[in-house]
Amino acid sequence: MEIILYGIMFIIGTLIGSFCTLAVYRIPIGKDITHERSFCPNCNHRLEFWDLIPIVSYLALGGKCRYCKEKIRIRYLLFELGSGITFLLLALSTNIHLEELLTNTEETINGIVLIGFGILYFTTLILIAGIDKERTEIAKPVLLFGFIILGLYILYLCTFKNILVYKYAIYLIFILIIILLDIWLMKKKGKENYTISILLLWIYMLSFTNTDIMLFTIIATLIFVAIHSIAHKLEEKEKENVKVPIGFYMVISNIFFTILANFLANIVK
Ligand SMILES: [Zn+2]
Repeated sequence: MEIILYGIMFIIGTLIGSFCTLAVYRIPIGKDITHERSFCPNCNHRLEFWDLIPIVSYLALGGKCRYCKEKIRIRYLLFELGSGITFLLLALSTNIHLEELLTNTEETINGIVLIGFGILYFTTLILIAGIDKERTEIAKPVLLFGFIILGLYILYLCTFKNILVYKYAIYLIFILIIILLDIWLMKKKGKENYTISILLLWIYMLSFTNTDIMLFTIIATLIFVAIHSIAHKLEEKEKENVKVPIGFYMVISNIFFTILANFLANIVK
């Protein structure tokens, strides 16, 4: 029976991955992400529903556009697949059972709400990672959306879980200070400050996970960044400043350690 639940989570993951590939392209240029249909970037032909089924469409079309036969970047397939696997692992790590879910107890509702928040949290992270990888830029609209979800999450914890709020109050104060600093720097220099954005992303992650996960996230990110920098230095001999997508590496590390921590807490007891 569990396989149905995991199958659903995998499909949700691939759909979110598919949405993210579109959003990664549209959000930074301020384009609408919900009303406008997708089109082929080469021939501009509008894509139909059956061209947009995650993974299936790519494989059925042999990785080519149905209309102009231009190759579709394999990145799209990998993104959808990776997103599907991530959500599948998230479901596996929470160790929920379909029978329990269907017996409609208070625990069940809690479980579903928490998975819902998990899905939203991971979606914002995947979006941030995709945009950062493409443009070395932390998307503020996505981060803002994330903070709204965070607010709802804290509200949920306070109302139903009786968890002490002081920890979150401190986080919120930090977030406000950084945002004010960000606005002040924006006015002074007239451009986005990448370090401040990374700091906001870090606090966002910390609020949704915990200090242990964030410690490992930082260590892994530093290793990724070091490897990235060395690889680029070896590749290009020019003394050009290498732009490292720190946010992208942070997201990968955070998703990995969040799922791992879940596994350790729920399955290896
Ligand atoms: Zn085309």
